[in-house]
Amino acid sequence: MYFIANWKMFGALNSLNSLYKVIKFSKNFKKRKLIKIIYCPPNTLINQMFIKFKNSKIEVGAQNCHEFDRPGPFTGSVNSMMLRNVGAKYVIIGHSENRKKGETNKLINLKIKSALKSGLKIIFCIGETIQEKRKKITNQILNNQIKIGLNKIKDKKNIIIAYEPVWSIGTGIIPKPRELFETIKFIKKKKNCKVLYGGSVNPKNLDNFRSINVIDGFLVGGASQNPKKFIDIIKKTYN
Ligand code: PEP
Repeated sequence: MYFIANWKMFGALNSLNSLYKVIKFSKNFKKRKLIKIIYCPPNTLINQMFIKFKNSKIEVGAQNCHEFDRPGPFTGSVNSMMLRNVGAKYVIIGHSENRKKGETNKLINLKIKSALKSGLKIIFCIGETIQEKRKKITNQILNNQIKIGLNKIKDKKNIIIAYEPVWSIGTGIIPKPRELFETIKFIKKKKNCKVLYGGSVNPKNLDNFRSINVIDGFLVGGASQNPKKFIDIIKKTYN
């Protein structure tokens, strides 16, 4: 099971001080061999985190990258090679917070190709909006996101899909277990790879996900900034 922390635009150098709790937990947890913990902080913290996690199995990822893998005159951008260079092994691509700002499926496809070329593993986010859910076109939307986003990409083993319904991110609202089960099964039928769930996961609502045996882990936003909550999510997954 994957447990991925998406810190979004939160965190400063002193936020790293409490990570020793997660490092300790990752070394002592009885089921440590069954779990993979990945932290995706803002770019400003990737290298410091990488150094902090050096003697542990926790890995580090970024939250986005430019579509070119080479250097270039793109003010404010960071490419996948640069992320590799500072210690990132993963990159989140296609997060709805970036799609909202104009990232298209086509651009996402270019980013995924470029990041794979640089040797990064991809956490590919897909998900429908509340309007799309109401129109009952969730599967159509997901199919489109997968088809265009992963167009001409054969490298399945380095891609993890994170199903994140947009209406669930940061809202505290989670899908009904049956619906989530069906949606994840649908995604796996389209693309045979690991599929995580993301959207308002916290230790209090984790029981709702435990029976859904098709979930390969969680992408956790808000709750991941608190080491205790993040650890509790992992513990409760196996309770
Ligand atoms: C996310 O943004 O990837 C996410 C899952 O956020 P949250 O857990 O805060 O809903």
